[in-house]
Amino acid sequence: MNKEKIHCSRCLGTTTHSVEFETNTESHDDLDDLGRAIASSGVVYTVLKCDGCEHIVFRRRFWHTDMEPGESWECHTSWHPPLVSRQLPPWHRSLPATEERLLGEIYRALHGEAFTLAMMGLRALLDVYMVGKVGDQGGFTSKLKKLAEHGYLSAAQLELVEPAIEAGSAAAHRGFHPEPDAVVAVLELVELLLHQDLLGSKLKGAVDAVPPRKKK
Ligand SMILES: [Zn+2]
Repeated sequence: MNKEKIHCSRCLGTTTHSVEFETNTESHDDLDDLGRAIASSGVVYTVLKCDGCEHIVFRRRFWHTDMEPGESWECHTSWHPPLVSRQLPPWHRSLPATEERLLGEIYRALHGEAFTLAMMGLRALLDVYMVGKVGDQGGFTSKLKKLAEHGYLSAAQLELVEPAIEAGSAAAHRGFHPEPDAVVAVLELVELLLHQDLLGSKLKGAVDAVPPRKKK
């Protein structure tokens, strides 16, 4: 059985995969005067299974005989399900319903390589989080200041969140197409705020459950 080293979306790294099935279609696009093929194209369909976790992925690769210089297989390859380098965090199910749904949709946009939509979604998620904390008053900047005043954000986080919001706003209004790394950086920051909030509520619940000392 043929082996290939490719990214595994479950192991979250490059692993050895076994080629379980492969087939190739071919069509002759151009014929010379004698009816001989001078250019052809086709698709190679491959099913691969990770040797580590047995996750299965389907690859579709288009090819043609007139490849331009610099053109590679990678330009014509699609995967189902899409190759994923980041998974929804396990704590997402503990989030309030709106935040959980938005975060799920952001990941689907990310995995579908819809980076502009993912960035717009992150801005919306940040807005939902801020309204939940300090109410719906004023624009993003005034909500941010209130978050910092109430201690939900440190000065260092405030410095990071402001450009994140700017990136989301540019994606929504000014045709900015963010790079995947930029989306992941903003995602990490927004997840940090949401997770911190969850841990805070959990901790408060635990502290409230501790019976008070009896007065002597
Ligand atoms: Zn795997």
